[in-house]
Amino acid sequence: MTQFSDLGLSAPLLKALASEGYERPTPIQAQAIPSVLAGRDLLGIAQTGTGKTAAFALPILHRLAADRRPAPRKGCRALVLSPTRELASQIADSFRTYGRHLGFTVAVIFGGAKYGPQIRTLEAGVDVLVATPGRLIDHLAERHARLAEAEVFVLDEADQMLDLGFLQPIRRIVSHLPKQRQNLFFSATMPTEIGKLAGELLVDPAKVSVAPAATTAERVDQRLIYVEAERKRELLAELFADPALRRTIVFTRTKRGADRVAKSLVAAGVPAASIHGDKTQGQRERALAAFKSGSTRALVATDIAARGIDIEAVSHVVNFELPNVPESYVHRIGRTARAGATGQAISLCSDDERPLLRDIQKLTRQTIPSEDRRRDPGLAVMAKARAAQEIAAERGARPGSEGPPARKAAAGPGPSKSRNRRRRRPPAAQGASAGRAKPQWHPMDA
Ligand code: AMP
Repeated sequence: MTQFSDLGLSAPLLKALASEGYERPTPIQAQAIPSVLAGRDLLGIAQTGTGKTAAFALPILHRLAADRRPAPRKGCRALVLSPTRELASQIADSFRTYGRHLGFTVAVIFGGAKYGPQIRTLEAGVDVLVATPGRLIDHLAERHARLAEAEVFVLDEADQMLDLGFLQPIRRIVSHLPKQRQNLFFSATMPTEIGKLAGELLVDPAKVSVAPAATTAERVDQRLIYVEAERKRELLAELFADPALRRTIVFTRTKRGADRVAKSLVAAGVPAASIHGDKTQGQRERALAAFKSGSTRALVATDIAARGIDIEAVSHVVNFELPNVPESYVHRIGRTARAGATGQAISLCSDDERPLLRDIQKLTRQTIPSEDRRRDPGLAVMAKARAAQEIAAERGARPGSEGPPARKAAAGPGPSKSRNRRRRRPPAAQGASAGRAKPQWHPMDA
């Protein structure tokens, strides 16, 4: 079996890997590292959890160390584009970890954080810059960043970039890069548009492909429960009665759904937090930190917020709702099967989700073992009680619907008033205020 020392990586990198406890390269690392060290472009079909970050970070660090030169002013020697802020931070952390004996500067740039510190960091230049496309374009437009001296360009999670509408921004960023450069391109799937982009960017790439959809799915112990949509919250609370659900990611399709589910878990006595695109950076960081430390058992997330997040020892994934895209199912359940571990995935499926289930089972070429909890009398009673409580709460929230106490609440700044007002605010307004919120920390630490 291949060892890291067989791949041609320098001693400081091997030392960092040893202190990380990595014993041997993952398949994508074994396949990709020699080609990247040889200076070739790379097309990697791989999802998070396969060790792909190290597959590009290690040879990039090796290359930068073999040809030391000052980082270019306002620019970088290696540029990594990532679709999300969380993934960008994680990639930057990986570069710092693997490069800890090399003394390189690593910076991360994304939206939602202050411009000033980012501009100052760029001004000095960095060895490795990890960025989300939107904010980098802002800096390029303002001439705070220039990429003319970049030597290596990494596009990570290209298919998610497509989903998020980043294709044009990527083409614009690429137009700032020098013609002579090494390109590393990673995507979990290869839809036509992504294949086209790879064709434009890559020159005679080495191709590596690992863990096709079915392989990851095979490592995860999967269960499917048929249940009425309106009884899912009760069933979820019941699942959490099992202490085996230690660190569980619960997936919903929508941001509002994530908030609703997190709230119902908290009401059922399960420490939970939600994470999605309408949360401020500070809220997202806090939710992740609480989940990682174990002070919350459940992280309720949308696909986009959760994709690429690397959290160790996730015991369970619960698909509260099935995803619209079958590939997302594989990504979701892959959260519990990081770097060779196994995990459990439980999916709740209502009747209207049957077509989605069919697509998933076709993709993974598996029939998920199922049980039927429809028409379950216990769940029905609890769901009815909750619905009654919600109606009562909603009545209480509606101004004028409750006579004097409600009017009194409307006149004074009591806690019930602020609670009601929050519930009644439309999601768009929440998003807008989230956008204005001050970032709680600065991601720059070059
Ligand atoms: P990634 O696919 O890059 O998100 O990596 C998934 C996880 O695997 C991360 O937590 C890495 O720290 C870990 N990892 C990457 N390469 C190895 C390796 N060769 N041995 C053990 N763990 C690894």
